[in-house]
Amino acid sequence: LATTKGIYNEFTQAVARVDGLIRQHNIACEPQEAGYLKVAHNAKALVTLQNAAKYIQQHLADDQDSGAEFINSGDFRAQYLDHHQAYGALRLKDGFGLNPLKLLLGYKDMVHAQGVTISEQSCVLEWIEEGAKHRLMTSNGELIANKVVMAGNAYTPKRFNQRIDDKFLPILSNVIVTEPLTAQELAQAGLHTHQVTMDTRILKYYYRLLPDNRLLFGGRGAVWGKDAANPVYGERLKMALNKCFPSLSSKAIAYNWTGWIAAAMDDMPHVYSKGGVGYSLGYCGAGVSFSSQAAYRLAQSIAGETLPNLPLYQQPLPTFPFTQARRLGQWGYYHYGWLKDRFG
Ligand SMILES: Cc1cc2nc3c(=O)[nH]c(=O)nc-3n(C[C@H](O)[C@H](O)[C@H](O)COP(=O)(O)OP(=O)(O)OC[C@H]3O[C@@H](n4cnc5c(N)ncnc54)[C@H](O)[C@@H]3O)c2cc1C
Repeated sequence: LATTKGIYNEFTQAVARVDGLIRQHNIACEPQEAGYLKVAHNAKALVTLQNAAKYIQQHLADDQDSGAEFINSGDFRAQYLDHHQAYGALRLKDGFGLNPLKLLLGYKDMVHAQGVTISEQSCVLEWIEEGAKHRLMTSNGELIANKVVMAGNAYTPKRFNQRIDDKFLPILSNVIVTEPLTAQELAQAGLHTHQVTMDTRILKYYYRLLPDNRLLFGGRGAVWGKDAANPVYGERLKMALNKCFPSLSSKAIAYNWTGWIAAAMDDMPHVYSKGGVGYSLGYCGAGVSFSSQAAYRLAQSIAGETLPNLPLYQQPLPTFPFTQARRLGQWGYYHYGWLKDRFG
């Protein structure tokens, strides 16, 4: 229970930290109404969510205003989303949507204001360790560092440093965004909220209404990077969107893009530093808030402070087995997930 509470608190603090930074530094990143809805996609998942809501309220939440609540199917469809595949939902009260690029630009302004130099377009291509010093080579020049933090997440080159090589799996996530919905279309589809939403499938879908009432809908992309731009993946997402909200079937898609997320073998980010080298990696597609908490903890660790005794902070990333065959493994897992989500 102590470990569960510790991890829960870190993720709660992460959301509060981002919220605090936005307010303190007036970051114009379009924060939306609070609430993170987790939608049960079948009856079994509904029971799990019901139990989870109870557990959070009994053991983890500070008071009635924080933590989670369970929402039954009728209330969910009437007050939140008229989702045709929802059996009910769990609502975490603190999560919220924002524009992540605008948040990043806000962070950049904060760092600049502290007098820190940022060198863009300068990917570290090679890293040579010379005793306690680190020689970092970029296409624009090289530098010698006393301490190094690896924060490239899923975009880190495949072979980069033995501390993280083969310890994360980059996975493509795909997002589609509709044209803006009119008031009539919103009412017809029963979209009553801008809260962020995710379902309980193994192959999850995530969605939310953007501030201009476009519907963003995301899920897994291609297994192999060479197939990333194949339109079939966006089309599959549109079919999934139509099943959730049938009245939007004829609504056009305005944008379709993909990006890499980093999965960790044990499904959990790891923030680790030793001997002047640190990393934070493996947010498994949920790092917009946790990366700020991770950065805070990593800075504490590099400054010699003791971090909470949690697996997030005390254990290095585990290695993926059979790394040569990992894409085939992912392909197999997607097929298993597809079957389980339909019949499991
Ligand atoms: C389609 C999609 C949807 C997502 N949806 C959500 C969501 O709803 N909620 C959520 O919380 N998270 C979501 N995520 C995940 C989220 O974007 C990441 O967890 C988050 O961006 C991680 O932040 P980061 O700063 O660690 O890494 P990133 O934002 O990935 O940034 C890493 C940076 O490091 C740079 N880099 C890499 N290697 C090097 C090198 N060798 N030298 C120099 N620079 C290097 C890269 O160019 C990049 O700029 C989504 C991701 C994708 C792709």
